[in-house]
Amino acid sequence: MTSTTTSADLFARAQQVIPSGVNSPVRAFGSVGGTPPFLTEAKGALLHDADGNEYVDLVGSWGPMILGHANEQVVEAVRAAAGRGLSFGAPQPGEVTLAEEVVRRIGPVEQLRLVNSGTEATMSALRVARAATGRDVVVKFAGCYHGHVDALLAEAGSGVATFAMPGSAGVTAATARDTVVLPYGDSEAVAALFAERGGEIAAIITEAAPANMGVVPPLAQDGVGFNRFLSETAHAAGALLISDEVLTGFRASAEGHYGIDGADRSWAPDLMTFGKVIGGGLPVGAFGGRADLMGLLAPAGPVYQAGTLSGNPLATAAGLATLEGLDAAAYDTLGRASSTLQQLVADALTTAGVPHVIQTAGTLFSVFFREQPVTTYEDAKAQDTAAFTRFFHAMLEGGVYLPPSAFEAWFVSTAHSDEVLDRIAAVLPAAAKAAARG
Ligand code: PMP
Repeated sequence: MTSTTTSADLFARAQQVIPSGVNSPVRAFGSVGGTPPFLTEAKGALLHDADGNEYVDLVGSWGPMILGHANEQVVEAVRAAAGRGLSFGAPQPGEVTLAEEVVRRIGPVEQLRLVNSGTEATMSALRVARAATGRDVVVKFAGCYHGHVDALLAEAGSGVATFAMPGSAGVTAATARDTVVLPYGDSEAVAALFAERGGEIAAIITEAAPANMGVVPPLAQDGVGFNRFLSETAHAAGALLISDEVLTGFRASAEGHYGIDGADRSWAPDLMTFGKVIGGGLPVGAFGGRADLMGLLAPAGPVYQAGTLSGNPLATAAGLATLEGLDAAAYDTLGRASSTLQQLVADALTTAGVPHVIQTAGTLFSVFFREQPVTTYEDAKAQDTAAFTRFFHAMLEGGVYLPPSAFEAWFVSTAHSDEVLDRIAAVLPAAAKAAARG
């Protein structure tokens, strides 16, 4: 039994001064129970907690640590930047280079503005879309997460084109009224909504591949990919498409995964949002897209958006060093680590007789504890979360740190070597047996 006394003490202290003891809800282990390990150090694919336990990490800070923790090039870039000053609140060269790198890599992005979180990115993209169209309504999909923006917290009502109630207390009814939540992948519902209210809709926002209800890849219907369908439907009505790539960006991106090719960009998203990987672990988000839309931003345009720490030199150094490390060889390593791990998990769960389905988008994947494929939030909710919880705790006890929720993607990094994967493989049979013990 691993000792958790120091983490338990820290958690008790934290609960006195931080709501629920955490600064972001999933970290509290609320749905799986138990004490979250308080982490003190991380290197490569390994984490260390305050009690001296070591874990193989499959969370990767929820995405940014794509090159592994404390990657030498990234740390060195941050160290060098720190020596030159921590924040200027004025233009600095790194933000130009980072924006150029994103524009070079992501075709639909002609201009980019840096912010400090994914939430800020989606909030700002939405403001631009509303200003550009002069319309208020935004369409989102049940099970997609776009940060804690008031207008985007609305959850699914059942049925088609349901007007959402506030998904969080503290969101005004007026805000919720401007958000329509539809079931993911339901092109008929999208078409019906646009037929009825197309002239009111500013934008559809979607995750390039939903990964916040577990991974749900967008499926083609009648030969047309769902993202393309959304783009064409929005554009036909004078609305915009916002592709939220905060999670998928540089792991399962629109360019690489959804076939926006050089020849036909006509259905590319108008605006895109980023975070996580482009900050290399420092607080960064970004939104970008068509130059005419981005030109609406102040000071040239009428849409106000700003940030004291935006374009911070440490953050741009970390982001740039991370993108520099993401070459073809890195993607090869990521792809191999991801598929090997999927196979190991599938084998262990199959051997133990645990119903499961593994779904992927690029190098992202998640494991649903149910037999049938998951295409909607309703499907995702219909999994055996109790089996996941038993599995999760057995993995943690065996030294593997999974996302503490059945509704999250698992993240590998280029530091997930064969040796690291072997360590996971050694724990999986017992965890699969624990999951089976209903
Ligand atoms: N959009 C997506 C798709 C996300 O996955 C997240 C965070 N997981 C966000 C937006 C919000 O990003 P942040 O937590 O940095 O505000």
